[in-house]
This record gives sequence, C-alpha cells and structure tokens, in this order.
Amino acid sequence: MEKTYSLTAHYDEFQEVRYVSKYSSSGTLPNGFNLQLGATVPKKPRCGLPRWSRREICLLSGLVFAAGLCVILGCILVLKYVALEYDAYCLKGCQERKALVKVSRFVAGNIDHTIDPCKDFYSFACGGWLRRHAIPEDKLIYGIIAAIGEQNEEKLRRLLLRPIRRPYQASAERKVKEFFRSCLDMAEIDQQGARPMLDVLEDCGGWDMAAATARQARWDFNELLYKTQGVYSTAVFFSLTVNLDDKNSSRYVIRIDQDGLTLSERTLYLGQDEESEKILAAYRIFMERLLSLLGAENVEQKASEILQLEQRLANITVSEYDDLRRDINSMYNKVTLGELQRITPHFKWKRLLDRIFHDNFSEDEEVVLLATDYMQRVSELIHTTPIRILHNYMLWRIAVVLSEHLSTPFRDAIHELAKEMEGAEKQMELGKVCLSQANKHFGMALGALFVEEYFSSASKAKVQQLVEDIKHILDRRLEELDWMDEETRRAARAKLQHMMVMIGYPDFLLNPEAIDKEYEFEVHEKTYFKNILNSIKFSIKLSVKKIRQEVDKSAWLLPPQALNAYYLPNKNQMVFPAGILQPTLYDPEFPQSLNYGGIGTIIGHELTHGYDDWGGQYDRHGNLMHWWTDSSYSKFLKKAECIVNLYDNFTVYNQRVNGKHTLGENIADMGGLKLAYYVSPAPRGKRSSQSHVQSPPNMVSA
Ligand SMILES: [Zn+2]
Repeated sequence: MEKTYSLTAHYDEFQEVRYVSKYSSSGTLPNGFNLQLGATVPKKPRCGLPRWSRREICLLSGLVFAAGLCVILGCILVLKYVALEYDAYCLKGCQERKALVKVSRFVAGNIDHTIDPCKDFYSFACGGWLRRHAIPEDKLIYGIIAAIGEQNEEKLRRLLLRPIRRPYQASAERKVKEFFRSCLDMAEIDQQGARPMLDVLEDCGGWDMAAATARQARWDFNELLYKTQGVYSTAVFFSLTVNLDDKNSSRYVIRIDQDGLTLSERTLYLGQDEESEKILAAYRIFMERLLSLLGAENVEQKASEILQLEQRLANITVSEYDDLRRDINSMYNKVTLGELQRITPHFKWKRLLDRIFHDNFSEDEEVVLLATDYMQRVSELIHTTPIRILHNYMLWRIAVVLSEHLSTPFRDAIHELAKEMEGAEKQMELGKVCLSQANKHFGMALGALFVEEYFSSASKAKVQQLVEDIKHILDRRLEELDWMDEETRRAARAKLQHMMVMIGYPDFLLNPEAIDKEYEFEVHEKTYFKNILNSIKFSIKLSVKKIRQEVDKSAWLLPPQALNAYYLPNKNQMVFPAGILQPTLYDPEFPQSLNYGGIGTIIGHELTHGYDDWGGQYDRHGNLMHWWTDSSYSKFLKKAECIVNLYDNFTVYNQRVNGKHTLGENIADMGGLKLAYYVSPAPRGKRSSQSHVQSPPNMVSA
C-alpha cells in the first residue's frame, strides 16, 4: 500500500475546513442529526422564562451534550467524505502539482545557496543535506543509504510490534512476531543461561567425548560431521551447499568449498604483524571464556588444541583476496562421488551425503569441488590429528556459531572479541539484534508486512519502466562501442535481452498461505534458542530437497525489505527489493529524472555487473561459458587494466585501494553512473540516439 501522508494530509485538511464552513452556513448538516435530536426535546410555550425542575435541567444538559457529540461525529464523517471526494478529483488534476511541490521542497532543502555552483557544485547541491546529517559518533561513514536503512529499520520494528492479525498456529505472521518477542525477552533468555547450548553439546557427545564415552558409544567422526553440517548447519573443515551448477544453470548441484575457520581471515591466525597478534590474543581469551561458560574442563589446554588445529587449517586455506579465488573457471572442478572419495580418502562421502540428503547416491553422482588442493590437505590433516581434538574442534564450531543467541555473559564475551577486531565500543542494541535475526530467519514473512505497507504494485510498474529505459541505453551503447567486434556485440546484446529483472517482491508474497509454507516449523514466544534451532533445521530440509528439484529461476536470494540489490551471474538476473526502492533513492511521486539519479545509478550498477570481470564470464543462460571472441576479450582486459591503475592510486582511510580486488565493483560503479546519466527523460517513442548526451570514449564494456 502506498502511503503519501506527509504532504497530502496537510493539503487535504485545508480543503475539508473550507467545505465544512459551506455546510455550516446553512445551519444544517446534511445528515440532519441536529434536527432529529431537537425533536426529542419536550417543547414548551415561549412565554417568559421557562421554569425547569432539577431533573429536567439534568436531562436537558445530557441531551445538549449528546446533541453536541453527534454534531461533532457528523462533522467528522462529512470531513472524511469530502476528503475522499477531493482526493478523487485531485487524482485527475493536481497529483502532478503536488509531486512538484514535494520535489521542489526536497531539492531546496538539500541545496546550500551560500555556495557558488560554478565553483563547488557538490557542496552547492548537497550542502543542505550534509548540514542536517552529521556523521553519528559510532559510524565511520553516513549517507543516503544509511539514512534509508535507519528509516526501514524503524518501519520494520513498528510492524513487528503490531498485534497479530492472523493468530492461527501455522501463520507466518504469528511466527515472525512471536520470534521477535522471544528474542527481546532477555529475562527469559538469561534465566535459561547455558542450558540450551549444553543440550546441543550433549547431543554431539559432549566435550572430550565424555557423553559418548558415558554411553559407551564408539566415537564416529562421520556421525559428528553429519550433525555439524546436516543438523546445526555449521561449516567444519569445509562448507557443503546446494547451489546452481555454474556450468549447467538448469540444475542444482552439491558444492564443496574451503571453510571452517572462526576468525574472518586466514592471516589473523598466522600472527604475522602486531595487529593480528593482538586479535589472536583476544580470540584465545574469548575461547577460554566461552569454554568455561559451557562447562568444559582444562579450558586452557582445550583452547590451545582447538586454536592449533584452526591454525593448521588457516595454513592450507587460500585467502579470498588471492587471485586463485577470483577465477571461478580455475576453481571449478566437477567430480563424481567415486573420484571425490579417491581425492579425499579419509572422509566417508557416500555415508555422509546419504545421511544428510536422505538419499542413496551412486558412485557417479556429480559434485563440484571449489578447492581441490585444500580438500586433499584437509583429508590428510584429519588423518594425522588426534580424535579428541577433532571432536572438540567440531563442538567448538557449533558453540561459537550459536552462542550469540544465549544469555548475557555469552553476548558480553562475543562483544569483547568484536571490540578488539572491529573497534565497536558499544554492544548492538537488542532491538537491532532481534530485527536482524527476524530478517535472517523470517525474511519473507517480515517482507510481506513491509510490502503491504510500503510498496505498491504501481511502484513496481514504474521501477520496471526505469529498468527498461536503462537497459535500452546500455543496448544503444553496446551498439556504438568501437572496440567490440560484431560477434561479441551480438552475444552481449543477447545477454541483455535475456536478463531477468525482479522488482519489489516475489508474487507469492501476496498470498498468506504460500508464506506460511515457507515456515513450517514451531515457534513460541518463550523459547528463543529453540526457535533458532527449528529455523536452521527447516532451512536444511529445504536445501536438501532442492537437489532433486527443478531450478526455480524466480527464487529470491534476499527478502523484499533488504536495503540491497544484486546481479546473479548464474541466473543472469537482476533483483531490486522493495527495501532499496524507498525515498530518497526512489520515490513514485518524483519525476523519473530524479529517480534516474537515485535508484537509476544502482540499476545501472547491477546491469553492468553482467559484463564485469566476474559476471562477464557467464553467458545469457547463466552458464560459465566464454562468449567473447579472444580479440574483444583481450581489449576488455586492457581497458579494465586502466581502471585497476586508476583505483590503485586512490587512498581511503590512509590505506591504498587495491584496484584488482575491487575491479568488479569499480566497473559497475562507473558503468552505473554513466548509464543513469545518459538515459534521457524524453518520453518513450520519441527516443533517438541524438537525444542522448554524446558519450566520451568508453573505458569498459558498459
Ligand atoms: Zn556491485
């Protein structure tokens, strides 16, 4: 539902007052309430002052009061009626005027008139906004996106706190609201203490396999591997996901990649400089603290052993900044289950995958390995590490991933580490934590509430038009590129034609029963940790099912309230959720020219990702397939090198930008800005190449 109260309400109220005075002059309201009421008063002859008994005076006072009340109610009804009438009239005539008033206020409010635009256009155009928005103390940067983020968060929080409208058991609306309440209920969470996590640890055999030994069960590495990956969704040694096959986007495939470190980057484990040594020391303290809270014995020794194993993993992990991790073609290695077993002999893959996927995989089942060397080494590493240490490492990984949902002492311990790593002095406010968890575990249920209130289908159509306009400009520019040969140009334009665009929200969000189906697990407002576990288990169930299902090209990766947009190369698809289609980046009442300058640059950015150093490796169907001719591709790389060199010379917060690592984003930024700039606000049908500003020579494909 589109809401435009801020300006129209003021405008309409003025009109209502005018209409009321017109009716009032006749002395009669159209509904005639005052006449009816008058008729109920007993009539007395008008001679001299009437003598009223005390009872009559009381009765009369009551009647006068009631009549007054009815008059007021009548007035309100009339005002409402008149407002509706006026709005209908306004739709025909004055919407444009209202929009212009709104725009002129917006622009005037952000301009700094004291600055000469010929000398400093940026300060002239944005000075007013900058004056009104100081950078908050707890932030390094602040801008339009951050401001929209704050507004969206406020809207979502208000929606979550509203009473439940569909209170039945299976209702997704009930679940997301009760989940939010369970997260805010710190008294209950503190009362539970470590208990919910201790139950999980016991389920996994307990520290040092104590629980397993007590039950005299034989320790089983694969069983624990199944529990960590297939029940608690925690990456140990590697990650296991179901994803689109990069070389055949019409099917899903199991992907195995390097993973399993707790600290965010391998170099932090290697202690090669002062900064990483400090972080490593803080991590060690954190480990001991958490292990103590979780009832482990010999915490110092245990922490050392787990840390040493993580350090050995870090040694064989390839940095995400390494060139090797930027070339999907060289990472991609499709193997059969039989081959995988030969490459990594110390795992029991068939047993593990059959257990997780409730299947009976054949030796020929194909899986994609994204880190073949790493997996070979991990297989060796588990072979040479004592069982007890492997076991404690796996338990540690589950504990560290789930502890953020436990009581205050756990959250304090996590914050101490975060303070060292990120410099965040204050712990995140509980309301924000719970909102982010609601977004994570109930994205679509929350999104449905957001869309109903803050995004209309009319908006969807307008954004669609913006996207079409910008795609049209890219098509024109592809046509005009002088460095691209005809064969590549044809393929590039075909890729543009095939590109799927999704705007606002997925259609099933308008159907409450369909949303309920996304959350078929139990939620209760008093059991926060259990709610999280239920959600994780259900997500695993959905992922597991996908492996034998047809690819759903219309599935969304982000919920509609996300303040983000993305281009997905393996689907050749752009997605713009309702969360980013908000004022001031996009306003359905703004003229399209202003929207081009806001959301238009983001649309152009995502579009350009389809042709950058990563997205450009995928063809129109989303397959990892080289569609450029060699000569055009080498020219593209040469031009990309210019951007690498340009950004290599920029410095941000005293650090040199790495032009190579940021290449894709930089290409997309430049391409997006150019496309939004060249798109002409001329009406459709009157468009011609002459109507656009002449473009400077291209640096990149877009
Ligand atoms: Zn980007």
